[in-house]
Amino acid sequence: MPTRPCWVEIRTRSLENNLRFLASLVAPHGDLLAVVKANAYGHGLALCAPAAVRAGATWLGVTSAEEGVAARALCPDARMLVMGGVFPGQGTDVVRHRLTPAIWEPFQLNEIEVAARTAGLAPRSFPVHLELDTGMSRQGVDDAGLAAILPRFNADSPLKLEGLMTHLFAADESDGRVTHEQLARLEQAVDQMQAAGHQAEWLNAGSTAAILAGEAGSIAALAARHNMKPLIRPGLALYGLAPAFDPPFAGEEPAQLQAAHRQLQPVLSWKTKIVSLRSIDAGDVVGYNGTFVATEPMQLALLAVGYADGLDRMLGNRFSVLVHSERAPIVGRVSMDQTVIDVTGIPGVAPGDEVVLLGMQGEQTVSAQDHADATDTIPWEVFTRIGQRVARVEV
Ligand SMILES: *Cc1c(COP(=O)(O)O)cnc(C)c1O
Repeated sequence: MPTRPCWVEIRTRSLENNLRFLASLVAPHGDLLAVVKANAYGHGLALCAPAAVRAGATWLGVTSAEEGVAARALCPDARMLVMGGVFPGQGTDVVRHRLTPAIWEPFQLNEIEVAARTAGLAPRSFPVHLELDTGMSRQGVDDAGLAAILPRFNADSPLKLEGLMTHLFAADESDGRVTHEQLARLEQAVDQMQAAGHQAEWLNAGSTAAILAGEAGSIAALAARHNMKPLIRPGLALYGLAPAFDPPFAGEEPAQLQAAHRQLQPVLSWKTKIVSLRSIDAGDVVGYNGTFVATEPMQLALLAVGYADGLDRMLGNRFSVLVHSERAPIVGRVSMDQTVIDVTGIPGVAPGDEVVLLGMQGEQTVSAQDHADATDTIPWEVFTRIGQRVARVEV
C-alpha cells in the first residue's frame, strides 16, 4: 500500500562513516559507545543500531531498559548501556537481556541484585556502571553517596562495579572551564573508590562535544592514571552534526572540530510531496486564522506534513523548504497534518513533486541546525520530535 508521502531517508553508510571518523578520534585514547537512545535520535533504531555495530561499535547507549530490550533484539552481541537508570520491575529484563545499567540509587541496586540472584548469577558477575554527579545535579551520587554505596559491591554481591560514569554537561562551552572542574571531581571520586579497595574497568565520560573540543585525551589521561579504560559516548556526531560551541572558539578551532566540519555527513533527510496547487489573489488569506495575507497573486502548494509529523508550528510564516532546488517559504500556520508553501515563480511545479523539509536538494541545504535556529531549540530536539508516523527508509 503506498503511504502518505511524508518520510525520512536514512543514509546508513553516512552513519557508518561518521562512526569510523569518531572512532579515529577516540581510538588512540579509548573505546567509543554509540548513543542510539530515543529511537537513534529519531533516525530509527532498527536501521541505526545495526549500522553502528557494522562500523565497529562494541557498545551502544540507550535511555531505558525497554530501549535496551529493543536494541538487544537487533544487536545480539553488543554491550548495551542503559544510561537513564532502571525502574522498579525492570531488573528481570535487564538481567535476561544482558543490559548494563547506570545506577546510583539504592533501590536500583536492590532491583538488579535481586534479579541477578534470582537468575543464579555468580558473585561479582553482573556488570553495572555507577553514575557520579560531578556537577550537573541530574543523576548520580555525590561524594557522601559514593561512600555509602561502595560497600554494596562486596564479595558476595552478584554485581560487579564495572564502570564509573559521569556526564559532562558543558563540554560545548569553548573555554573548557566547567569540563575541567568536572574532571577534577571525577578524579577525586576515582581516588575515593580505589581508597575503598574497589577497582572499575571503565571510566565512562564525555559525549560529542567533549570529543570535538579535544577532551578525549584528558579523559584518557585521567583513566590511565587510575589503571582504567576510557569509554566515550558520542550521539549527535554519529548522525552527522557538530554541536555549536558557545561562545565560538576565539582562535583556531580544535583540530578535532575542524576535522568534524570536513568529515561528518548528515544521515537524515526529511521529505514530502506536493499534494495540490492553487492560485490565490491579492487579499486572499492562507491557513488557520488567516495569518498570511497575499499582497499579490500567488501560486501555492499544499504539503502532506504538519506539526503532528514533527514540523514545528513555530515555522509558520518563518521558514523555507526546498522545491525544484529552490527555497519556498511556508505561508500561514502549519496545520496538524498539512502545510502550505509559496511556489510563485518556481517554474513547472506539479502535484507529486518532491519537497525537502530537512536535507539537500540541488545546491541547497536545509539543516537540522536551521530548523533549530528558527524554533529556538537545538538539533537534538528537531530530530527527536519527527513523528512516529513518519516512515524511516534506508537509502
Ligand atoms: C545523550 C547522551 C549522550 C550523547 O550526547 P551527544 O551530545 O548527542 O553526543 C552521552 N551521554 C549521555 C548520558 C546522554 O544522555
